[in-house]
Amino acid sequence: MTALSRNPSTVTHRLGDEWLMAYAAGALSEGQSLLVATHLSFLDDAAERLAVAEAAGGALLETISPDLMAPDALAQTLARLNAPLPATPAPAPQVAGADLLPAPLRDWLGGGVDDLKWSFLGPGMKKVKLWRGGPNDQRLWMLRAQPGIQVPKHGHRGTELVLVLKGSFSDPHGRFCAGDVEESDDNRMHALGIDEGEECICLALTEGPIRFESWPARMIQPFIGL
Ligand code: ZN
Repeated sequence: MTALSRNPSTVTHRLGDEWLMAYAAGALSEGQSLLVATHLSFLDDAAERLAVAEAAGGALLETISPDLMAPDALAQTLARLNAPLPATPAPAPQVAGADLLPAPLRDWLGGGVDDLKWSFLGPGMKKVKLWRGGPNDQRLWMLRAQPGIQVPKHGHRGTELVLVLKGSFSDPHGRFCAGDVEESDDNRMHALGIDEGEECICLALTEGPIRFESWPARMIQPFIGL
C-alpha cells in the first residue's frame, strides 16, 4: 500500500498566484475551490502563499478606477477581502493507506476513493463524476488509471486543471506527481501517459466536453459524458 501524499516540498507544478487570489477572494466556483483547497493541502507553505495572494489582491484593487466598477462592487470586494481567509487546509495525512485522500476532498466526498461509484472510461481507465456547475459548464471528476495506460490525445474548450492525488503521469509538458497540478487551455493538445509502477488517481476540472483527436475516442465521448 502506498500513501496518496508525499513530502509537500516536492510538489513542483503549483497553481499560479491568480488562482490563489481568486480563492482567497471567494471568487471561485465550488468545484474550483475544492480543487485549489485539495492542491494547497499538499503544500507546506499554503498559509503564507494565501496571505501573499490576499495582499496582492488588495493592491490590485487599488489600481482599478472606481468609475469602471458597479456602484457596490468596490464595497463588496473590500468586504470579501476583509473577510477571514478560507481555513488553511490541514496537511495531507502522511500515513500509508489505500484509501487516503487530502482532508478537503475527503470531507467533501464524505468517504474515500473506494467508496465512489467508478465507471468505465476506457481500457484500464475509470471515472467518477463529482460536480457540474459554475461558469463555462465546469465539470469536476476523478480519473483512475492503471500503470502504463495512455489517455488519448485531446484538447479543451476552456481551462483544464488536473491535480494528481496518487501515482504520476507524464506528457510533453512534464512529469506530474502527487500534489502537482497541470493547467491546460484550449490551445494545448496533449496525451497523458500514466507512469509505470502504480495506479494514478487524479482530480480534474474541465470546461465543456473534452475534444478528442481520434475518431474512436470521439465516437464514445457521448457515452462517457466528459
Ligand atoms: Zn487534458
